[in-house]
Amino acid sequence: MPRYQNVSKSKAVRMGTNAPRRQRSKKDEQEFGLAKKKFIICPNCNCVFFDKAWHHSLEEDAKHLTDRKNIRFKICPACQMAKDRTFEGELVISLSKEKLAEKNEIINVVKNSDEQARAHDPLDRVLWMENESGKIRVLTSENQLAVRIGKKLESAFKGGTLEIKHSHEEDLIRVFWKY
Ligand SMILES: [Zn+2]
Repeated sequence: MPRYQNVSKSKAVRMGTNAPRRQRSKKDEQEFGLAKKKFIICPNCNCVFFDKAWHHSLEEDAKHLTDRKNIRFKICPACQMAKDRTFEGELVISLSKEKLAEKNEIINVVKNSDEQARAHDPLDRVLWMENESGKIRVLTSENQLAVRIGKKLESAFKGGTLEIKHSHEEDLIRVFWKY
C-alpha cells in the first residue's frame, strides 16, 4: 500500500508525489517569477538588494516591497564594514591652529562628498569619522572616495598639501591633507 494514500491531494502535490493538474496561467507565472526574486533589506541603513545589486530604499520602493514574500533582513556590506571597523580608504586631515576656525566648513565638504557618493552607489560612503581638535580621520568603504574628498579639500581650501599613499599589498589607500 502506498504510504501517501491518506495524504490530501494538495499535500501530495507539495510533497511532489502528485503533479498539479492545473496549468499555470501567465499571471501565475509572472507572480511565481517575482516570488522567486530575493529582496534583502539592510535593517541599519535601509538599502535594498535586488537584481544583483544594492539600491536605495525609496519610500515608493519600500511600499512595493512589502507585498513580496521573499524579503530577508541582512546587514549590507558597507554597514558590516563600519561594524567591523574595516575600511578601504582613510583620509587624515591635519589642521594647524590658525585653521581650526574653518573646521566646520571642512567637515561640510566631507559630508557633501559622502552624500554624493551614496547617491551614486549606496555602498560607497563615509563609514565613520573621528574628530579631535586639530585632527579629523575619515574612513571610507571605497578607496577612491578618500582620494576624491582629499582632492576636493585641496581645491576648495588653498594652501594645503595633499599626499596619497597606495598600499602595495591591499586595496587600501591612505590620503593625508595638511592645512
Ligand atoms: Zn546598510
